[in-house]
Amino acid sequence: HKIQKSISILSKKALLGNCRYASTSTTKLFIDGKFIDSTTDKWIDLHNPATNEVITKVPQATQDEMNAAVDAARRSFKGWADSSVLHRQQIMFKYQQLIKDNMKELAESITREQGKTLADAEGDVMRGLQVVEHCCSITNLSLGETMTSVAKDMDTLTYRYPLGVCAGITPFNFPAMIPLWMFPMAMVCGNTYVIKPSERDPGATMLLAQLAQDAGIPDGTLNVIHGTHDAVNFICDNPTIKAVSFVGSNQAGEYIYDRATKHGKRVQSNMGAKNHGIIMPDAAKENTLNQLAGAAFGAAGQRCMALSTVVFVGDSKEWITDIKDRAEKLTVNAGDQAGADLGPLITPEAKERVCNLIQSGVDEGATLLLDGRDIKVKGYENGNFVGPTIITGVTPEMTCYKEEIFGPVLVVMEAETLDDAIEITNSNPYGNGTAIFTRSGATARKFINEIDVGQIGVNVPIPVPLPMFSFTGSRASFRGDTHFYGKEGIQFYTQLKTITQLWREEDVEHAKPAVSMPVMR
Ligand code: NAD
Repeated sequence: HKIQKSISILSKKALLGNCRYASTSTTKLFIDGKFIDSTTDKWIDLHNPATNEVITKVPQATQDEMNAAVDAARRSFKGWADSSVLHRQQIMFKYQQLIKDNMKELAESITREQGKTLADAEGDVMRGLQVVEHCCSITNLSLGETMTSVAKDMDTLTYRYPLGVCAGITPFNFPAMIPLWMFPMAMVCGNTYVIKPSERDPGATMLLAQLAQDAGIPDGTLNVIHGTHDAVNFICDNPTIKAVSFVGSNQAGEYIYDRATKHGKRVQSNMGAKNHGIIMPDAAKENTLNQLAGAAFGAAGQRCMALSTVVFVGDSKEWITDIKDRAEKLTVNAGDQAGADLGPLITPEAKERVCNLIQSGVDEGATLLLDGRDIKVKGYENGNFVGPTIITGVTPEMTCYKEEIFGPVLVVMEAETLDDAIEITNSNPYGNGTAIFTRSGATARKFINEIDVGQIGVNVPIPVPLPMFSFTGSRASFRGDTHFYGKEGIQFYTQLKTITQLWREEDVEHAKPAVSMPVMR
């Protein structure tokens, strides 16, 4: 058993092709149950963000390869959709266990390719795993509705059916969680899937595909293709694909929403954010400032739910300098180094963009309370590191406020009253997340009712809902009408059939056929 286990681990490492033990290798495609080398001549170098060494090459799949993936998904659909719901549930039970068993390996792959700390990478896997665990409740989640006697001897019932082939396009910042928001939900409903992970860190998706195969999904039901714009356009245009799930930037998400809906597809598109933390003067100071620093700088700010803007209300502004102490205590280092709190940014370009946005704050009249741009990390001098940065005196017209920074940068604003803080937040186009820190229930209640943001924390800095709820970002942070996971996720990946049936023992004689609209009284 032990030998077999180590063979399986070795084959997984070979499959990933980007492990420590291999020099530069290539990432495979997963089509029709096989991990295959792409025949493309277009490759993308994938760098470890802590060192900028090339660790694997990611193919831009050819049109033939992408067609083969959709074809495999199409062919396997009928058998999979017809399989019993208990069978699909059993696979999910096995899958969640395999993800737990391989947690360490998944986290290592994420740290290597994405840069976040190992502890944070485990959190990334855990939040995805929770969706898989929720999928195990499919027997309840996919129940329809029934009503007897809607008319004499007549009943109505609804069934939830899968859509067919669905597709997902994912961002770089949560290489395990976001793919797991998508294909397990879709597949447990009976759909088959084609996923295109971020070209910057597809390793976790490859391992998750291997584990799904080990859990027993049939060949062709899950396929992984790689690429950038061509792969995205292929997914948006392909007539066999019925629904597209997207998570990423507004630039890509709005484009994908428009293009895929034009082709008649369902689309759910989760996009960028600018999340405001509102600090009331009655908040529990120590806890609030710790939560704020963790949520602003954790994952180097590369979270769509990072608390990247803070509004100090009234006298709480006296605490502004105290955040600096907390930020300075955080350790910036390669994600696999003990004690690291923040890893590097994903690419040198991302670092440059973040540094330019920090400079724009200075140029437009804000103050740098803490500047992390010149940080040097010993042993990782080539990494894309930016240390925690705090910009104070920021006003709504400044570029550093208007743009999503996506780095370890906290933008600090002030407001006289809660109404002013709500006004600032509601005037920002994004509606992904927000959090208020207060000890007053009445203040919190007013905030919840008046804030126009889809996910709200009360003394909770990163209010990402668990999968029995849905991820309900709003306004510019979302396009579509059914959100990821939870009941809405099931709704997104299924369509209803509503059956009205009449069963009567006796045949009834009519003088004449009824031609007016039946009203079923
Ligand atoms: P991105 O938009 O650059 O990439 C996401 C995916 O889209 C990738 O697979 C990429 O290949 C593809 N893509 C990139 N540019 C494209 C274009 N112009 N046209 C078509 N396809 C394109 O996003 P990213 O940098 O990987 O991720 C960071 C962004 O994702 C941030 O804006 C963050 O807020 C957002 N995000 C949102 C959520 C959420 O749930 N709202 C969660 C995580 C990340």
